Amino acid sequence: MAEKKVKIVKTIKIDADKCNGCRACELICAAFHAEPKYSSANPARSRIQVIFDPLKDIYIPVYAGEYTPAECAGRNKYVIDGKEYSECDFCRASCPSRDRFKEPDSGLPLRCDMCESDPPLEEPKCVEVCLADALTYEEREEEVEEEVEVDELEIGIEALVNKFGMDKIMETIARMAASKKE
Ligand code: SF4
Ligand code: SF4
Repeated sequence: MAEKKVKIVKTIKIDADKCNGCRACELICAAFHAEPKYSSANPARSRIQVIFDPLKDIYIPVYAGEYTPAECAGRNKYVIDGKEYSECDFCRASCPSRDRFKEPDSGLPLRCDMCESDPPLEEPKCVEVCLADALTYEEREEEVEEEVEVDELEIGIEALVNKFGMDKIMETIARMAASKKE
């Protein structure tokens, strides 16, 4: 039987009714994760994206979740308070059927890391800059089974393998390793 352990689960509660589409959260997220930090602020690199349609008064902040190599079959529509949304609007996945949550140059998947940093931040940067209070940081304890953490590196490599194939990746790594030795 798998061991149980108590884990702090970090979450961000989103009140879409309060979001005004200012996109400050996108800019700060992109800047905070830039290399070096704050050297650029390209919203396409943000791990939160605001789905918005001002004419329909639709603003939905969505956090980048897991990478998935397969396109899903979800094409449902949702009507909430008279506004129509597509299933994709709420989806957090970096998936093959759209450009959302992909690093624009490499195509590698982006995923929200809750602004992991050393020393830790009091609250994630997007929550800090949201003056409309649409984002609220919350922590809760949850009993979970021991899990093997899949880190960003593994996710990135998996995406590269899916895009270029294992042979091509191994060939490139071998070539790079050889050129480092020269
Ligand atoms: S900073 Fe807040 S109000 Fe502005 S777009 Fe992001 S979630 Fe919406
Ligand atoms: S919590 Fe941090 S990493 Fe996640 S979307 Fe907000 S700013 Fe970006």
